[in-house]
Amino acid sequence: MSELEFIPPAKPIIGDDERAAVDRVMRSGMVAQGPEVAAFEQEFGAHMVAGRECVAVSSGTAGLHLGLLAAGIGPGDEVLVPSFTFAATGNSVALTGATPVFVDIEPDTFAMDPAAAAAAITERTAGIMPVHLYGHPFDAPAFQKLAADRGVQLFEDAAQAHGASLDGAKVGTFGSFAMFSLYPTKNMTSGEGGMVSCADADVARNVRLLRNQGMEKQYANEVVGFNNRMTDIHAAIGRVQLGKVDAWTAQRQANAAFLDAGLAGVAGVVVPPVREGAVHVYHQYTIRLDGATGAERDAVVAALKAEHQVGSGVYYPIPNHRLASLEHFAPGLELPETERAAREVISLPVHPSLTPEHLDRIVAAVAAVVGAGA
Ligand SMILES: *Cc1c(COP(=O)(O)O)cnc(C)c1O
Repeated sequence: MSELEFIPPAKPIIGDDERAAVDRVMRSGMVAQGPEVAAFEQEFGAHMVAGRECVAVSSGTAGLHLGLLAAGIGPGDEVLVPSFTFAATGNSVALTGATPVFVDIEPDTFAMDPAAAAAAITERTAGIMPVHLYGHPFDAPAFQKLAADRGVQLFEDAAQAHGASLDGAKVGTFGSFAMFSLYPTKNMTSGEGGMVSCADADVARNVRLLRNQGMEKQYANEVVGFNNRMTDIHAAIGRVQLGKVDAWTAQRQANAAFLDAGLAGVAGVVVPPVREGAVHVYHQYTIRLDGATGAERDAVVAALKAEHQVGSGVYYPIPNHRLASLEHFAPGLELPETERAAREVISLPVHPSLTPEHLDRIVAAVAAVVGAGA
């Protein structure tokens, strides 16, 4: 057993093509935001979001922050966000001076629950920002209808969902803006980076201004902005990855189908459901250990590694409304489905570098560890 090779929970793939692209930019002598970034924005928009205008920024978090500011979010506003997500979702709202209002999730898909969102809307609500969590689309038609009926904006945290779709419509085309993260563990990377998909030219122009010190014309600063530019070095990596991500996604989907088939019959394990009409891109393959306590779940994670050399992750163990950084926005708030998911979830490796031996071992390991009641 000890000779088994460790299966990491995630594995960025950086190859010779990416290295050559970086070298090309380095040799050009122009490394800051320039023609590579412009080309990456064009290509990403055409490929991922049906030609919507895209603006590249220095990180996914910067993309959320600037997207919210560009959409007019600020002090006095409330924006509905899930608590079961990476902290950047709520952080970005807080950074604008607005108040993140945490909303519970659907038990099956782990995404924000439209009914819970409807109940959380007040006269101060200016926007709703659900997350396409794990690469699975949230219920976009329900949120579009809710936003339209209540006169608020819809924003998409698509950090984990490059290429996912619902009823043939790509994620990143549903809201006033959407953000895709390009961090190394995401489905494609630029090293660090984010891409903002914009519903109209005004939002896009505002994101461009805020990204670059409030300037469109050099030294004619129009608003107080940031330096959240992407470099041409990062864009060159992202352009290469954009050409590969569809094949990687297909491999993720094939790996997920194998895990589904192997794990569906294991008592106590709930495999990730796919909404009708949805294309899931499996940023994570997340099972639920039905009824587990957090300690029981953590013991399974530990045993998968110790006994089978299977890495796994818990995304996310602490609901955001319980974090020291954000809890003051949500005194006394109870979100039962969020709390339950935080106790029960385990994300298993699903990345495109898995071999058939790895996949067999992951299934056998989960069956053995969960079956043994670890
Ligand atoms: C990764 C991630 C972000 C932040 O993206 P960065 O590129 O790391 O700044 C935001 N939201 C979610 C759901 C994420 O997974």
